[in-house]
Amino acid sequence: MPLADIQTRIDAACHKSGRSGATVQLIAVSKVQPEARVEAVLQDGHRVFGENRVQEAMGKWPGFKARFAGVQLHLIGPLQSNKIKPALDLFDAIHTLDREKLARKLATEVQARGASPELFVQVNTGEEPQKAGVLPADLDGFIKACLGYDLKIGGLMCIPPVSEEPSLHFALLAKMARRNGLTGLSMGMSGDFESAIALGATHVRVGSAIFGERVKPA
Ligand SMILES: *Cc1c(COP(=O)(O)O)cnc(C)c1O
Repeated sequence: MPLADIQTRIDAACHKSGRSGATVQLIAVSKVQPEARVEAVLQDGHRVFGENRVQEAMGKWPGFKARFAGVQLHLIGPLQSNKIKPALDLFDAIHTLDREKLARKLATEVQARGASPELFVQVNTGEEPQKAGVLPADLDGFIKACLGYDLKIGGLMCIPPVSEEPSLHFALLAKMARRNGLTGLSMGMSGDFESAIALGATHVRVGSAIFGERVKPA
């Protein structure tokens, strides 16, 4: 679907909830997409992209960044602590802060650089054993620990279980954000970004609806 159509759907969903379209950032998730498809979206003028692997992004994005000004990259997949430096070199936002060791090491590096990416804490709202993210019961303590490291947390992120109604998870994430005085909500993907917007999403992560089905598994 053309990018402009996705943006129109975002604007319509915002309008329905009495929000301005400017309050929702569309992150075009370009992981494993052929470079030609990503380039087409850059040529269309879009500049905000999401990748889920640091290594893959390091291969693809320095070249694009050299050719297209104003690119903003969001890391939406797991961050290993040994990849913090290259991740901070490349990414403007990290949506997957989910453990104290990572927070501590990230804080050290952020202090050394004097600049922080925008940070979201990933919450495992479905409490799925195989999924990353802080458990809901541990979230408030984790956020306090991050503040103790002087990390500025911008918001929360979740990936709802595939077999459950996503709205329940979006509502839960919004409630946890409010309780902690956080304004950023990274939630909603190709199949559910409109309901995420209805529940307060500020960042939607849309891949296949823009680029077509991924040619390889993510
Ligand atoms: C791949 C991915 C997306 C995009 O998924 P689509 O269904 O293709 O829109 C969003 N968020 C995360 C964390 C992802 O890994």
